[in-house]
Amino acid sequence: MPRPILARIDLAALRHNYLVAKKIATNQPHPPKIWAVVKADAYGHGLLRVAAALADLADGFALLDLAEAVSLRDSGYRQPILLLEGFFDVDDLAVCADYALTPVIHCLEQLQMLKAAALSAPLPIYLKLNTGMNRLGFTPDQLPAVRNALAQSSTISVLTLMMHFAEADGGRGIAWQLESFQRMLRLWPEAASFDVSMANSAALLRYPQTRHHWIRPGIALYGGCPFADTSAASFNLKPVMTLHSRILAVQTIAAGQRVGYGGTYRAERPTRVGIVACGYADGYPRHAPTGTPILISGQRSITLGQVSMDMMACDLTDLPEAGVDSPVVLWGEGLPADDVAAAAGTISYELFCALAKRVPVIEDSRG
Ligand SMILES: *Cc1c(COP(=O)(O)O)cnc(C)c1O
Repeated sequence: MPRPILARIDLAALRHNYLVAKKIATNQPHPPKIWAVVKADAYGHGLLRVAAALADLADGFALLDLAEAVSLRDSGYRQPILLLEGFFDVDDLAVCADYALTPVIHCLEQLQMLKAAALSAPLPIYLKLNTGMNRLGFTPDQLPAVRNALAQSSTISVLTLMMHFAEADGGRGIAWQLESFQRMLRLWPEAASFDVSMANSAALLRYPQTRHHWIRPGIALYGGCPFADTSAASFNLKPVMTLHSRILAVQTIAAGQRVGYGGTYRAERPTRVGIVACGYADGYPRHAPTGTPILISGQRSITLGQVSMDMMACDLTDLPEAGVDSPVVLWGEGLPADDVAAAAGTISYELFCALAKRVPVIEDSRG
């Protein structure tokens, strides 16, 4: 009998969430195409599993890693594949050409490499503009050099402009970055005819004016909500990953006794403590404090004390029916990962990506 922890990946929910994004896109006057963002092993859900589930739906796949892109092609997927950070070496460009990948170009050094490469076929390129995120992309003062380099380049088939929002999920929103984008287009009038890719999940869900030719939802596909003040369910998004475990021991302690490493939890009343077969080595966040929500036999309770490597504690005092072997949901169906993440001071993205290799994964496509 293996340790009773496993992650269930609901592929019907994944497809449902894609179709939610698709429906929003379809309602636009000029419906955009959709890059399914599958970076970081599809946000911890398994790249090839997710690609297979979305194969007949996704207009394209977006990720970072060249080897992952090649593995998608080798698995037979024919749609466009976007490399979100582009290439790191001039040799990568030959792979891009051979495998028909679409690299982002975000810096002058990459433009130099493109110029130096002798390619078997011209490449479609996403040119990334820095409109205020200040992470990747060209600034207005670099545009003359960019235009120069592009004018001399015979290795580009299609050029698409791309930008990324820093605060589409927050109060500052997107208008300030759209203004910056428009200012850059005024410096480069020919670029006004290029296709544009802007929206991440937050922008897709909240800002119609960002839904241009290609949109790039990630977290929404996995049923996470990018907004702190809204639930995924309010957008009709369903959880894809559910992390299941069981209670493996129960301790009954008196008021004043403590639980776990450091004794950070001190019982204020006689307490039944359930020990759950899940710890930080499974990807559960160690910094989740006492009070983080957890589901025991379908009922919401809270965690107690420090998360250990392979175990954690929860409160069974008000769940007298619960005991050894009771089913536990750490996040997913019945307990939004966003709620657990918020309690732990992080975001559902991090919970999903951190799911450890040692946790067995089962697929479910019941719908
Ligand atoms: C990760 C990423 C996305 C997807 O973001 P979500 O918030 O998960 O929707 C889109 N575009 C770029 C450039 C990204 O790096």
